[in-house]
Parts: sequence; structure tokens; C-alpha cells
Amino acid sequence: MAVRVVIIGGSFGGLTAACELRRQMGPDRVAITVIAKERRFTFVPSLTWVATGTRSVEQISFDLARPLAAAQAALVQQTVVGIDPERKVVDTDQAEHPYDFLVVATGHRSANEAVPGLGPVDGPGHSPMSVPEAVELASAVGALVRAPGPVVVGAAPGASCIGPAYELAFELDHLLRRRGLRHRVPISFVTPEPFLGHMGMGGAGKIRQLLEGAFEERDISYHTSAAVTKITEGVVEVGGSGPIPSILSIVIPPLAGVAAVAATPGLANLKGFIPVDDHYRQPSLDGVYAVGVAIALPPVEETAVPVNFPKTGHMTEQMAVIAARDIAARIEGREGSTAELSARCVLDMGDRGVYLAVDPVRPPRNRIPTVSEGRRWLLAKRVFERTYLWHARRGRRMPTSLGW
Ligand SMILES: Cc1cc2nc3c(=O)[nH]c(=O)nc-3n(C[C@H](O)[C@H](O)[C@H](O)COP(=O)(O)OP(=O)(O)OC[C@H]3O[C@@H](n4cnc5c(N)ncnc54)[C@H](O)[C@@H]3O)c2cc1C
Repeated sequence: MAVRVVIIGGSFGGLTAACELRRQMGPDRVAITVIAKERRFTFVPSLTWVATGTRSVEQISFDLARPLAAAQAALVQQTVVGIDPERKVVDTDQAEHPYDFLVVATGHRSANEAVPGLGPVDGPGHSPMSVPEAVELASAVGALVRAPGPVVVGAAPGASCIGPAYELAFELDHLLRRRGLRHRVPISFVTPEPFLGHMGMGGAGKIRQLLEGAFEERDISYHTSAAVTKITEGVVEVGGSGPIPSILSIVIPPLAGVAAVAATPGLANLKGFIPVDDHYRQPSLDGVYAVGVAIALPPVEETAVPVNFPKTGHMTEQMAVIAARDIAARIEGREGSTAELSARCVLDMGDRGVYLAVDPVRPPRNRIPTVSEGRRWLLAKRVFERTYLWHARRGRRMPTSLGW
């Protein structure tokens, strides 16, 4: 009988794990089931473009049925409510799914309760962290263009996904300049990072100098080691800096594990993130793996205001490949191999981009990080998005020569 592998999540982690496992082993050896609460894959990095009106959700997403059919994997659109590691069963709102191996790739929950007013569901703040939030933010940006006023962009204490905050500050600056409205919109950037470009990974090469120069050039005032303590309709309260007037506050929240993971005894830490070893196995539960934003990774260092380690889509895919190959190796009675995570990304600066490559992500690093700025990188980011979606829709991995 084929070994049963259940994968929870249909995003970077889940889809990559399913496709890679099928590449390793045919359907006679493994039966793959992907459980996802939404049946669409969304290219999450483009949610900032949804927020600023240059993409629709349809343009950056596709139905998971086609790539999973190509991977000969079953797609189950259900919401997982818990996992029973003793019985090796995943419970959803509709059924039980037994497994021999389980890969948890459920991403995050926005921990909006950490700061009063973080939103948009829980307060007047805005966020690009999910499709509905990005769509809501797009209408708030539309309102800003109709009635300009001060804006705060940034991240809350304990945030780990800070790159999109930089992108939104630059994209808003660019959008407002093009409309001749920038002089009516003071933009402030607030971040728990000890310096710009720390990004939870201790900085990278010249990214700090580049971002400081770019913000100063564009009249974006910035506050580092800043703890957002409260967001109201007209003000963002910041420990140390006092209140900053704001009619549009976009503050990235700290993240936590999703409810089903947090509710499973023995699976996750207090924040709901899953501890893993070098092979992305949960060390105390047999046959359980976790990849992507769902895993627990310690911060690189203690900072005055907490900043957590980033988990990017690129890193998530590397984790998913290691986990899938490890499952295949164990089915064959071998030990899988592992590798340090590296990261490459392009930050949208509105009229140009910055390419950033770090290897490994956690310092000290073997290579001096690459930091390169130019219009060509913004074009590369757009081409990458299209090419990625073209490949992923067909159940193929992005060729590594194209940068991921
Ligand atoms: C605005 C923004 C911009 C970003 N930009 C970049 C970038 O430029 N480059 C980069 O590398 N990374 C970027 N990232 C980070 C990247 O998007 C994440 O690292 C990536 O999405 C993580 O993938 P994942 O599979 O771990 O989780 P997610 O993408 O969060 O997916 C989680 C999956 O689990 C499913 N799920 C969750 N709970 C349940 C449940 N109970 N039952 C069933 N299914 C469930 C969801 O439906 C979804 O399919 C960005 C993130 C954001 C928010």
C-alpha cells in the first residue's frame, strides 16, 4: 500500500512540498493529499501591488486543481481544526484524514491583539498580510488619494515580515508623487528594527545605508527601535517618539501560528510556531514535519524592541524541498540531506528596485551580501512574478537560474 502523506496548506510551502515529493516518488509509493482552506494559490509578495492598485487578486492567483493534478495529488478544500499526533489523524471541519507523514505549512495568524488598534479586522490600522486585508487596504489608499493627509507605515514590536512595510512606504511615495499629491502627505516610517534594513536578520551589506539615503531623498521620516503602542483613527502612538498624526496607518503585526496548530497539544511553542530540526521534522512527534512561516526560528539577536527572524517565500520553498526529500529518503530507509537557508528578494522602491541576496540568511555569512539598486530590478521583479505564476500554475518549480 502507498504511504499516506498529508500536507496542510496550499501556498509556497504546501504546493512545493507536494510537487517535490511527487518528483521523488510515484503514486504507487506515496499517496499525497493537500488540505487547504482556500483552493487558490496567491502569490503573496504581490499583495502590496494589490494594495496600491496595480494588480487584481485574480492576476496574482490561480486554482490549485491544475498543479496538484499534475503532481497526482488529491486536493481537499477543508479547514483543519486540529491534529491528533497519537492516532496520526488530521481533523478538519468535515472529515478525518489519516497520515503516515504529515507536513504542516499553514503559515501565520496576524497577532493583532499585541497592539491595540492593529487592523483592519481588530482596529483602525491596515495591513497587507492576507488577500482580504490587502483588498481593504486598496480602498483605504483610494480614500487617501481623494482626501490626502499624514500616513504612518511600519511594523509593530515582534514583527518578522518587515520587507513589505518598506515596499509600501516607497510605493505610496511614488503613487502620491505621480499624482502631484506628495506635498500634502507627510510619510513616517516606524520600525522596531535597531537600524533600517535590519529586517530581523541583522542587516545585510550596504542595505542600511541604501535605505537611509532613499528615505532621506524622498522625505520619508523614520523612527528606529520604535515600539508602536496604540493606533487610533488619527494617531499612531510610538514609545519614545510620542504620537504621530496619521489618517492611514499601515503597521505590520507580529505573527503567531494558526489556531489549529496552536490548539494541538505538543505540536507548537507558546506562540503557535512549530519547533523543527535540520530536516524540518518536529523533533518529538513521529512523522510530523513543518515548513515556512509555521515554524519556530529564534531571533538573530536581542534588540531594544523585539524583531523576529524573517521567513520568506524563497526560504519556505527551500524548507519544503528539504522536508519532501527527507520523507522520500525515510520511505526508502535512508537519511535525507539538509542545507542552510539562503534568501534572495527584490524590494520595490516605487520607481526602482533593490536586489538583496544573503547566504546564509543568519549571520555570520559565507558571502558578502549582494545589494544592488536600479530600475532593472523593478522590471526583474515584475518578470519574476509573471514567470513564477506561469510555472507554479503548471506544478513546476521556478528554474533556479531565474533567481529563486
Ligand atoms: C505582503 C507580503 C509581501 C511579501 N513579500 C515577499 C517577497 O517579496 N519575497 C519573499 O520571498 N517572501 C515574501 N513574503 C513572505 C512570503 O509570502 C511567505 O514567506 C510565504 O507566503 C509563506 O508561505 P507558507 O506556505 O509558509 O504560508 P502561507 O503563504 O501563509 O500559506 C498558508 C497556507 O495554509 C493554509 N491554511 C492555513 N490555516 C489552515 C487551516 N486551518 N486549514 C487548512 N488550510 C490552512 C492557507 O489557506 C494557505 O494555503 C511576503 C509576505 C507578505 C505578507
